[in-house]
Amino acid sequence: MKKPLLGSFEAPKSRAHMLGSLQKIHLPMKRFSQSDEVDYVIVGCGSAGGVLLQRLARAGFNVVALEAGPFWDTERDWVSDESGSHQLYWEDPRVTGGSDPLALGANNCGRGVGGGSVHWAAFTPRFHPSDFEVYTRDGVGADWPIDYDIIRPYYEQLELEMPVAGPAYYPWGHPHGYPYGPHPMGGVGNALIKGCTALNIPVSIGGPVAILSGSHGDRPHCIYRGFCIQGCKVGAKASTLITHVPDALASGAEIRDNCMVSRIELGKNRRVSGVHYFDRDGNPHFQKAKAVIVAGYSIETPRLLLNSACPGFENGLANSSDTVGRYMMAQAGNVVLGRFDQPVRMYKAPPAHALTEEFYETNPKNDFARGFAIQTVGPLPIAFGKEMVAAKRAWGWGLRREMMDYNHWATFGLLGEILPWPDNRVTLADETDRFGLRVAHVSFNLHNNDKKLIKAAKEKTTEVMYAAGATEVVQEARFAHLVGAARMGSDPRTSVVDKFGRTHDISNLFVCDGSILPTQGSANPGLTIQALAARTADYLISQQDAIFTSDKREMTEPILRSELAPPGTYGRGVPHLK
Ligand SMILES: Cc1cc2nc3c(=O)[nH]c(=O)nc-3n(C[C@H](O)[C@H](O)[C@H](O)COP(=O)(O)OP(=O)(O)OC[C@H]3O[C@@H](n4cnc5c(N)ncnc54)[C@H](O)[C@@H]3O)c2cc1C
Ligand code: SF4
Repeated sequence: MKKPLLGSFEAPKSRAHMLGSLQKIHLPMKRFSQSDEVDYVIVGCGSAGGVLLQRLARAGFNVVALEAGPFWDTERDWVSDESGSHQLYWEDPRVTGGSDPLALGANNCGRGVGGGSVHWAAFTPRFHPSDFEVYTRDGVGADWPIDYDIIRPYYEQLELEMPVAGPAYYPWGHPHGYPYGPHPMGGVGNALIKGCTALNIPVSIGGPVAILSGSHGDRPHCIYRGFCIQGCKVGAKASTLITHVPDALASGAEIRDNCMVSRIELGKNRRVSGVHYFDRDGNPHFQKAKAVIVAGYSIETPRLLLNSACPGFENGLANSSDTVGRYMMAQAGNVVLGRFDQPVRMYKAPPAHALTEEFYETNPKNDFARGFAIQTVGPLPIAFGKEMVAAKRAWGWGLRREMMDYNHWATFGLLGEILPWPDNRVTLADETDRFGLRVAHVSFNLHNNDKKLIKAAKEKTTEVMYAAGATEVVQEARFAHLVGAARMGSDPRTSVVDKFGRTHDISNLFVCDGSILPTQGSANPGLTIQALAARTADYLISQQDAIFTSDKREMTEPILRSELAPPGTYGRGVPHLK
């Protein structure tokens, strides 16, 4: 019999684990004993943690990831249903505050293997060269200790590993093209094209987005049904759960799921010796390790460092600068909704499929520094209903009427750069969680530059919506994408980690996730977070045992180890039509 295109279907064996309809991995994995002193313990197996785990295991290190959430079997655990997908998010208690409090929970990080890459929309624009020198150029924010040229090869590498679909020529920042061809347009994308074209604004169509526009190995292509932020049961959307974790396990890594790390232990000579954690039944354990890498997201990472205060680090581990928790950032993520006479049917596409970065850079004509992007967003009905409650104060019968009109609405999201401020910070609240650990208190305040930028971004996005032909336009104020709170820098007095993610205070303790970003641009951060993780991995690999035995800091840039990419990264793809 002729084989179907993607190989003959085989039901999972008893201990196999399904990731999407076709991809499967075989458990059990290698198991280390807690009395083994492993090389690296990674706290959190999310966007950054998943990439790091795969690279370190492939390079031959003994590495364990402790993940607070479950190891998803996507066929068993995920549903293409909005209300059935809340389990994907970190919904444990947190306290929010400040003059502009952030909505926490489903608006930020994931919980489970894959972390936030499970529920992300998978927009994957790169940061611009200007993002790495905001202070030098504009006198605000901060400079990074690295420049664009250092991260550029890692962008190119991760765009192949996910892989990313997008146009053959992307004009903003450092112009480049994408390995997979762009996606077809949905109704919202068409509206963005129409509005931008009418106003002479260039727009990128069909990506960049880490969703397959053609089959890739044992992953099928997108079927355009819009459940991307519910996980994508199909397996077309990239998450580290399906792109990097299978190879990590095949290379000898262990993932201990449902294990919540409670404290990092400081051993002798100002070096860490392992982590304390609670297993799924709430039993306490200790895993010995030669080095620890925290990859828990920009709320849980500072929370863990602060909860690990001990003699010598009374204000929190690695916090001699009093910078842990500070300079946390969220992007302005206002949603602008427009009603059209003709049906739009915004559910019939991935939410992420078109954008413009024409307003990304500082414009001297503006009364604020930095800029914003405008992107497609395609909320499903429940999210749309919530937006109507917020934007129009619709309720009862009024809300029902709006919901019946769902097919006529399009939504654009603005993504505005909010600068890093020291008073936007994560501290410890007095409240505790079910493990008795103090929960995070997240304080957020908009400053003048941020307010002016958001006002201008809202006006421009509204103008585009009207230019697309909308007859009614409303908007909901919201924020997206938390980063920062353990930032990298060259000066130990004003940053937590050096340019490789190594804490200035403790030479075998690293941070590797969105927390280390000094500024955030107005690009979605996920690609940058994973690219930085691959670079940190290359650094650790280049150091071999030196991290475990010496406090000396080698600051030479590592070489890119593309041969450590997951198998199948190269040689496939959908050719661009020229
Ligand atoms: C709805 C939504 C849509 C998004 N869309 C996009 C998009 O289109 N493009 C984009 O670039 N970004 C997007 N993002 C943002 C993106 O998901 C995050 O920026 C990214 O996943 C953060 O990566 P991370 O490695 O810092 O943390 P995460 O990926 O969140 O990983 C952290 C992991 O650590 C675990 N953990 C935390 N604390 C502990 C502990 N103490 N012990 C054990 N485990 C722990 C968590 O369970 C989690 O799995 C979106 C976010 C949301 C909420
Ligand atoms: S639209 Fe595509 S990427 Fe999104 S859930 Fe459906 S198949 Fe997955």
